[in-house]
Amino acid sequence: MLKPVSPRPNFPEMEKDILKFWNKNKTFEKTLSKRSHEKSFSFYDGPPFATGLPHYGHLLAGTIKDVIPRYKTMQGYRVDRIWGWDTHGLPIENIVEKELDIKTKLHIKEMGIDKFNEKCREKVLEFAHTWEKIVERTGRWVDMKNAYITMEPEYMESVWWVFKSLWDKDLVYSGHKVMPYCPRCATGLSAFEVGMPGTYQDKQDKAITVKFESSDEPNTFFLAWTTTPWTLPGNLALAVGGNIDYIKVQNEKEKFIIAKDRLEHYQDIIGNNVVETFSGQNLKGKKYKPIFDYYKGEEKAFEVITGDFVTTGDGTGIVHIAPAFGEDDYKVAKENDIAFFMPVNDMGEFEIEVSEWAGESVIKSETNLKIIENLGNKVIKVEDYKHSYPFCWRCDTPLIYKAIDSWFVKMTNLKEQMAKNNNDVHWVPEFVGKGRFANLIEGAPDWNISRNRFWGVPIPIWRCKDCGESQVMGSIKDLEDKTDRKIGDIHLHKIMDLELNCSCGSKAKLTGEVLDVWFDSGSVPYGSIHYPFENKEKFERDFPADFIAEGIDQTRGW
Ligand SMILES: [Zn+2]
Ligand SMILES: [Zn+2]
Repeated sequence: MLKPVSPRPNFPEMEKDILKFWNKNKTFEKTLSKRSHEKSFSFYDGPPFATGLPHYGHLLAGTIKDVIPRYKTMQGYRVDRIWGWDTHGLPIENIVEKELDIKTKLHIKEMGIDKFNEKCREKVLEFAHTWEKIVERTGRWVDMKNAYITMEPEYMESVWWVFKSLWDKDLVYSGHKVMPYCPRCATGLSAFEVGMPGTYQDKQDKAITVKFESSDEPNTFFLAWTTTPWTLPGNLALAVGGNIDYIKVQNEKEKFIIAKDRLEHYQDIIGNNVVETFSGQNLKGKKYKPIFDYYKGEEKAFEVITGDFVTTGDGTGIVHIAPAFGEDDYKVAKENDIAFFMPVNDMGEFEIEVSEWAGESVIKSETNLKIIENLGNKVIKVEDYKHSYPFCWRCDTPLIYKAIDSWFVKMTNLKEQMAKNNNDVHWVPEFVGKGRFANLIEGAPDWNISRNRFWGVPIPIWRCKDCGESQVMGSIKDLEDKTDRKIGDIHLHKIMDLELNCSCGSKAKLTGEVLDVWFDSGSVPYGSIHYPFENKEKFERDFPADFIAEGIDQTRGW
């Protein structure tokens, strides 16, 4: 006799019964132990952060991460599924900062990096236990007991090995680059981070049009427009479009130079008495008087240059160039040998040389209003300007663009190979991989992998104070051999005081940056099994993965 089927089944209870059955019979474990590695299907599980509870996105991805391996299991494959925890970087640093009431990066240094880092270590897995319960309850088969954890020495050692491998292939360099920068977190962000959902928000700013007086023709002014008045103290050049037509407009007192197409927007202020028309080429090399005195007397500055990024879509068709605060600015200034100055410190405050506002934050609207006020009648127009503007994805502070020193991976050298590999990947959905991700690889900038922060995998470069020679560690043993001591943990506070002997007779010091956390998670195939220090055979068998499932935001680049 069949048991009667209840017309009102209690599904949650049925699920719990099934989980109990799996647990009691060790069903998942048996799908592994009873199968040989010979027929295996390899899967890498990208690590989430345990600084909060799982949300819908995690559960959705978790379901996909379960369904495919389960299907392969039913086909007779052995599918190892090891959970991982992402533990470094700003998500946890920001939580600890809040808890310890830390306002700036300087506070952390004063308090002690050791204290700060240990607090991060203590707190980062706070929710791990709750995650375990929830993940199990969703019915997912995954080994959470043997999870890899990115802050463990074994994992970090593999990351060092990855870094050293890139270094040995001459794919790492240090450079000066303008990039999105968070003044509160005091670190540069990758294009990847700026592409995170919700980064761009509407922002209300003051757009101003400023007149720069020509040095050669008295009472004649170049008009330039900007939405970031705080960049004006860093002004060192003006850029025009070589093929754009410009005009000189004369009113009772003064003459103004502006793109012909932009006159309509300004004629209520400067009139429309056009006395001359010429191409941008003719303006090249013309000198003007600096609007602030900070860099006055600098020989190679305060002149008109040409740039192909100049348009007449908005503004005046003349772009104010602050080489420290814009990618185009930096590039075009360099091409024209214009001087370089950085008037803003790591915290996004004016340096001492900008005497009026030294110590004031450039992202504050008050600072910008003060600058506008100070410029007085040099400002001919002030407009309210609403635009889509990037904010820090972690702390919601408006980002600025700022030149910083960083370590980069030469993606340009890897592009061809990456495009080829990407082409061999079976993407679902296909348009993400063959379209968006392929385009991204094609246009990939070099990857800024260093962060001027504390809780992460230290970049293992020791540099000589005198001769500048670099020594790069690819393992903990490398460092032990060089320092002749036992080293357990390689977090920044444990190794930053270790000095190495340099061949020149002097001492080499750790450069002090940590790696972008995406470098950690990108190292999963190696770090999760402590390759190449252990599991060589397993790595060679399983790499690359047969299957991964990750969020769409990870296809937006670095
Ligand atoms: Zn931030
Ligand atoms: Zn040396």
